[in-house]
Amino acid sequence: MCIVLRSDTLTFPQNGAHGVRASWQELFAASPDVLINASAHKTVVPVLDFAIGEGGLTIMAGPCSVESEAQLMATAHHVRRAGAQFLRGGAFKPRSSPYAFQGLGVEGLKLLVKAREETGLAIVTEVMSENDVSLVAEYADILQIGSRSMENYSLLEAAARSGRPILLKRGMVATIADMLRSAQVIVANGNPNVILCERGIRTFETALRNTFDAAGIALLKQICRLPVIADPSHACGHRDLVAALARIGIAAGADGLLVEVHPNPDKALSDGDQSLDFAEFEAMMTGLAPWIALRTVKAQEGEADQHGSSGIHLMEALG
Ligand code: PEP
Ligand code: MN
Repeated sequence: MCIVLRSDTLTFPQNGAHGVRASWQELFAASPDVLINASAHKTVVPVLDFAIGEGGLTIMAGPCSVESEAQLMATAHHVRRAGAQFLRGGAFKPRSSPYAFQGLGVEGLKLLVKAREETGLAIVTEVMSENDVSLVAEYADILQIGSRSMENYSLLEAAARSGRPILLKRGMVATIADMLRSAQVIVANGNPNVILCERGIRTFETALRNTFDAAGIALLKQICRLPVIADPSHACGHRDLVAALARIGIAAGADGLLVEVHPNPDKALSDGDQSLDFAEFEAMMTGLAPWIALRTVKAQEGEADQHGSSGIHLMEALG
């Protein structure tokens, strides 16, 4: 791999924003339990053998919807080989059109469990209704709260009480403060294991499906204890841009990625336009290597600084 850098050390930009921290505390005062403060350290979310937010980059990948056993198993094996730790896939699908495919329901959950048994991937899948929480929690390792449900407080409370970690997707018209308030509802209901997901928001820009709020990720990493996952697929809606947005998400400080992958995106029952095929996912993962290495160097530099030794050079880390 050839990487050309102007200097042999490269560090993420340091923020110059400490002076405005006090006003952020005020802006996010309704979500005290999810903010970083002197006594509250970063939340690491344990799931099976994985630890989200501990320092490594967590990759969650899979189809938008679980469609069939063949589709799910092929995708699960492929994304695991390419480096994913989690299999995503909707069994209960929130669709913008009531006439669109609504998901396989329980049959889809059973297929996800079969994929976990075959591959060791942990399962993240959406729960749409508080009535389904205990059912979905029986099968899933992480409960996904979708964008359309971010402010469904009775669902948030029921999901919190299931004890499963929660992937909370940002509402498409939700501010950062709105998202943190929803996270607060989950934490205040006794469940500290919340992962935030930036999946794009609606703005005046219509060229893409949504507008990816990379600044929101950087902000969350400065103020919030919770791990943050970037979803480059829903953020843009076009498979050609997914790898670029994944890089941006990592550079902004995301703890992981949620990416839609399908064996044949043109035939997908949902979100085919933004789904990567197997070769595209593999190429994306290979292309992310330098960004992941840079992220690792940054983390090691932080540790080295804490122990008073000098930083680690990027080129050394990249070999
Ligand atoms: C999904 O992850 O497939 C999904 C429906 O996402 P969102 O809730 O962000 O639209
Ligand atoms: Mn989708």
